[in-house]
Amino acid sequence: MGFSVLDQSLVGVKGIGEKRVRQFQEMGIQSIRDLLFYFPYRYEDYQIKDLATALHGEKVTVEGTIYGHPATKRLSKNRDLISVKVVIDHFIVTATWFNRAFLKNQLQKGRPILLTGKWDKYRLQITVSEYEFLDTVKTTKKGHLIPVYSLPADLGLTQANFRKIMEQAIRQYYYAIEDYLPKEVIDKYKLYTLKESIRAIHFPHDHRDGKLARRRLVYDELLFYQMKIQLLKKLNRQNWPGIKRKIDVDKVKSFIHSLPFSLTNAQKRVIKEILGDMEQSYAMNRLLQGDVGSGKTVVAAAALYANYLSGYQGALMVPTEILAEQHMESLKKLFANTPIQVEVLTGSLTEKNRKAVIGRLQMGLTDVVVGTHALIQEDVYFKRLGLVITDEQHRFGVEQRALLRRKSDNFSPDVLYMTATPIPRTLAITAFGDMDVSIIDEYPAGRKKVETHWVRPKQFAKVLAFVEQQVRKGRQAYVIAPLIEESDKLDVQNAIDIYQQLCEFFPNFKIGLMHGRLKPKEKDEVMNRFLKNEVQILVSTTVVEVGVNVPNATIIVIYDADRFGLAQLHQLRGRVGRGEHQSYCILVADPKSETGKERMRIMEQTNDGFEISRRDLELRGPGDFFGVKQSGLPDFKLADLIQDYRTLEAAKKDAEILIHGEEFWSDPKWRHLKFELERTGVFLQQVIEG
Ligand code: ADP
Ligand code: MG
Repeated sequence: MGFSVLDQSLVGVKGIGEKRVRQFQEMGIQSIRDLLFYFPYRYEDYQIKDLATALHGEKVTVEGTIYGHPATKRLSKNRDLISVKVVIDHFIVTATWFNRAFLKNQLQKGRPILLTGKWDKYRLQITVSEYEFLDTVKTTKKGHLIPVYSLPADLGLTQANFRKIMEQAIRQYYYAIEDYLPKEVIDKYKLYTLKESIRAIHFPHDHRDGKLARRRLVYDELLFYQMKIQLLKKLNRQNWPGIKRKIDVDKVKSFIHSLPFSLTNAQKRVIKEILGDMEQSYAMNRLLQGDVGSGKTVVAAAALYANYLSGYQGALMVPTEILAEQHMESLKKLFANTPIQVEVLTGSLTEKNRKAVIGRLQMGLTDVVVGTHALIQEDVYFKRLGLVITDEQHRFGVEQRALLRRKSDNFSPDVLYMTATPIPRTLAITAFGDMDVSIIDEYPAGRKKVETHWVRPKQFAKVLAFVEQQVRKGRQAYVIAPLIEESDKLDVQNAIDIYQQLCEFFPNFKIGLMHGRLKPKEKDEVMNRFLKNEVQILVSTTVVEVGVNVPNATIIVIYDADRFGLAQLHQLRGRVGRGEHQSYCILVADPKSETGKERMRIMEQTNDGFEISRRDLELRGPGDFFGVKQSGLPDFKLADLIQDYRTLEAAKKDAEILIHGEEFWSDPKWRHLKFELERTGVFLQQVIEG
């Protein structure tokens, strides 16, 4: 292998000149290979349709014989219509053209004709967009799926030009397309060979042919990506030597038995998975997913306890000071019957206290520290940091996580990322394929479902009355201001406006205001007052989204709810339903689009975060799921993470077997695949050397 004619420049393609070569270069197509792998994004369907099964309104191509004489009709000053009867199988169909009166003399009785157009099943009529007389023209399109490529408009390259060149290139270089998958893989999945699939993705004989080509190429794409991230994972394990420790399972068990409730099976399972990692010689790199309220904190506590038993310190990192305080309180309670010393380290400590906390950490007097970013500052050292847990990890950047990993010298601490954003498996194994993933897919028993209602803005008076009624009962409410995309400033303004309106409307209630422009100290102060029920109604932008726990809050009103993504609405809703009282989520929205309405209905129907994220993924597509900026998803040419779910699973498993097995590294039959992976930048070389 190694060098291939496919790597030569396009000059070799017959009929392609200097000008074209330059045009192609502008599109990023340098070599023959680049060209062959430039796939169409859709096909024009000129396959002959059976009208008996064609759908109303569908675009069809049919072949028939003209029957009778054409009739013309003037519709307006510059619009006319010509129509003629055509016999197609046993149908007599009216074919109509707009502004094609000149066809009159050509539409002669008995002539065979090919028609493409929109089928009106009820009037037996085709509105023709393209046609060919089959007795004079040797048809080019009939029966074919014609590829359509994405071509820059300003290059002067037409679809027909491009198609011709592609056709020529495939004819000329077909022989040189060598498969890199061994025959047994191709046989196992009944895949097309690479040759066949390149031909058929561009010029499929029919739908099935095109589908099979796509199936093969999607498998390759997903396999390569899985190989890449799994190699990365393997590499990380080599580069991050962990702590190979003994876990005192009995003690962990008795800790779990001492809790005021029994764990769900899902909690037990993920604790086992985490402890399993902690015993290994590599450093844990695990993502723990669990919906809001699924009970991640006790899981974290069990891991911190096991870590303590094996003689190490643990850190729990959270995005805000409020959360740090809250977690410290929960951990103190959970660890009440253990000797574990928990401390909190945040930016708001006085310098003296901060120094004292840091000192105790360094001396090893503190066993578990809960903190914000303050934890990863330069002068914070641990004596023996063995476990780092981050809660709501998406708020921490990659670099910050790396910093924390570096807080120990000779080994890497185990790291667990917890997130309450349920990520559908198909995305998780792609975006987080370099991590291990644990999932809590079960809720503690007996939890009350948050009642969710979608109301129109004109019913807002009722909403206010309901809020009033709840607050009079002693409960508290969140009111979330609408989200103005791309404009932090308008968000804040909205929140301020609503705050003022509510102050007027509820002069007897204490109302708080929270938004991103407040200083951390001010935010904490507002939250603290809300926590102590000194504030009954908290007006806020989405900054309250993360992890806040005020069990007495039973109602959340979300303005313009249709502007939020489903995942975000679900997170917001998770702020209520955390205590003993029935809770409510009121979505105020007047969505115009069907998807907007669908989102509101989904929220009303289900409280299950995984279900919601699955539906969200369907509505939005994988690209938008994480938000554009931090999608962490690769740009696949063909693969679609929803549609190609099964292929993804197969590719993942195959990649695992290859990477972790002996055969791939030793058996020459995988040589070609290794070359291909190297050529496509899956950094195999590093791994081989590493
Ligand atoms: P989250 O996953 O959102 O962080 P928490 O850990 O805050 O959830 O747990 C939510 C609440 O459920 C807490 O009050 C916690 O004590 C309680 N909880 C956790 N696990 C269980 C369980 N197995 N049975 C009953 N209650 C539980
Ligand atoms: Mg939590």
